[in-house]
Amino acid sequence: MKTFKQIYDHAENKITGIAAAPGIVIGPVYLYTREKLEVINEEISNCREAVKNFRDALLKAKKELSKVFELAKEKMGGERAAIFEAQLMILDDPILIETIENRIYSEKRLPEYIVDDEISKYQKMMMSAHESYMKERAHDIGDIKNRIVRNLQKKRWQSKIKKEAIVISESLSPADTVLFSRNDVKGFVTDHGGLTSHAAIISRSLNIPAVVGTHNASHLIHDGDIVIIDGFHGYILYNPDEKQISFFESKLEKLKALQRELEEYKGKPAITTDGKEIHLSANVDVSGEIDIVITSGAKGIGLYRTEQVLEELSEFPTEEEQAKIYRNLSSRVYPNNIVIRAFDIGGDKFKYYDFQEPNPFLGLRGIRLLLENKTLFKNQIRAVLQASENKNIHFMIPMVSTILEIRETKKMIEECKKELKKEGKNFDRNMKVGMMVEVPSAAVMAELFAKEVDFFSIGTNDLIQYLMAVDRGNDLVSDLYQQFSPAVIRTISYIVREAKKAKKEVSLCGEMAADTLAIPLLIGLGLESLSISPSTIAYATRIIRSISYKKAKKLAADCLSCSVEKDVIDRIEKFFEENSITRTRNLI
Ligand code: PEP
Ligand code: MG
Repeated sequence: MKTFKQIYDHAENKITGIAAAPGIVIGPVYLYTREKLEVINEEISNCREAVKNFRDALLKAKKELSKVFELAKEKMGGERAAIFEAQLMILDDPILIETIENRIYSEKRLPEYIVDDEISKYQKMMMSAHESYMKERAHDIGDIKNRIVRNLQKKRWQSKIKKEAIVISESLSPADTVLFSRNDVKGFVTDHGGLTSHAAIISRSLNIPAVVGTHNASHLIHDGDIVIIDGFHGYILYNPDEKQISFFESKLEKLKALQRELEEYKGKPAITTDGKEIHLSANVDVSGEIDIVITSGAKGIGLYRTEQVLEELSEFPTEEEQAKIYRNLSSRVYPNNIVIRAFDIGGDKFKYYDFQEPNPFLGLRGIRLLLENKTLFKNQIRAVLQASENKNIHFMIPMVSTILEIRETKKMIEECKKELKKEGKNFDRNMKVGMMVEVPSAAVMAELFAKEVDFFSIGTNDLIQYLMAVDRGNDLVSDLYQQFSPAVIRTISYIVREAKKAKKEVSLCGEMAADTLAIPLLIGLGLESLSISPSTIAYATRIIRSISYKKAKKLAADCLSCSVEKDVIDRIEKFFEENSITRTRNLI
């Protein structure tokens, strides 16, 4: 059997893109080419009729989008479907409508020309933004523009495609993605678009494997070709040979077998062979994931990244809107807890300021930005408190580097409590307040921080980045992003020890906790609580149920004596072999 590397490294029929939604599919292609709409700049004589045509086209566009909105709500739930509600709102924007109508009267040009010109202005502005998020939204606006123009030209909207095909297209609008899913689409591939494109978000929530941003897939692949999509790694193989097909068929078999096996672990306690129970909770990025959390067997939510709400809505929700989201999530996991993390804005996440910082990861990020923007922070604290009536919400501060940041935050929380009390609002007076330990200064000072907060959550994604001085998103130095570096494991060991000494809870919520290879080591280092993505809960339960706590502690002690990462990895691999535990790390 060929290895993954052999299959991919020299394959001439390989196209690389961004892994947008996990899964593997093999099947025939439906090449979707959107009809190019030609817009001509022609003079007209009857402006009144042109305005009427424009209004009719708007109405038709609204009807089409309302249909998509309903379908999306049914398939993905209200919050995800909000994209379409936002598009419908643009179609109702009185300023946009008035501007277009006034221009039709004053310039006496075809309405489709005016619509195209006016909406393109917004699109260009958004396209010139630095953030990929704004660029993606520019595509959404283009979708609205095309919809009105198409209706003005009385052309039909193609929304039906061949059943069970893999759709390949230059780009896909959110509406295309939802409508195509009615025909049991098996996978999506697009030339354009990134991880935050709505086509990607929708594919993830509909569980359809997808690779986006391939640049040229729609030019290299033809209708009816057979392709393999690897949504785990972001590759496509077109017209695969026998060897490639059999490699992926066997991968699919393994994947199915693993999924069947994992079903057994759902809901079972994560307990070692010698009786040590580990608390497994879920990391949640978007509130739509909550259904998966409930069915995954996770014990509550160990990390809710609230900044993702901003990515989805592209603005700050009001205090009431936030309280509603937090209340909804906390009641869904009740009686388990949810750890709501304050907005971790900055770095490579949601951008708050227009200016570009020279070193965003070392700049105004997380708690630093929140303390500079107290109104924003206060709104969030008040919203979290108001949602806390059931006493199952914990509040967590990201990117803490000094004790004063904690003290200032706690002072603000007390002020908010006083205000809410005066307003006669109910809230949990003893809501626990904890911090992410993800900056080396906080790790080194763990002993003193433990006196200031109720709990720690170790964020290895950032801790590794800052400890090793290696940008977590930079390929050039990815060799140095070593989660098993002795420096990293010694630091984790120290944080856990200090938390326990102070009798404070400590958990770990970085990606490292979802790496099955890391789990025995982390447990051996004394972690009794891990927060991981809901889809990995069953994998982790499976590993934990096959190891002994005593042996894990011995493994951790061995690893702590190593001086290079490779030695740590070798010891862990030996541990897996000696205890006959099947590794899932490279299976998929
Ligand atoms: C971390 O840094 O490990 C973490 C969980 O936070 P984020 O990935 O959101 O920065
Ligand atoms: Mg972090």
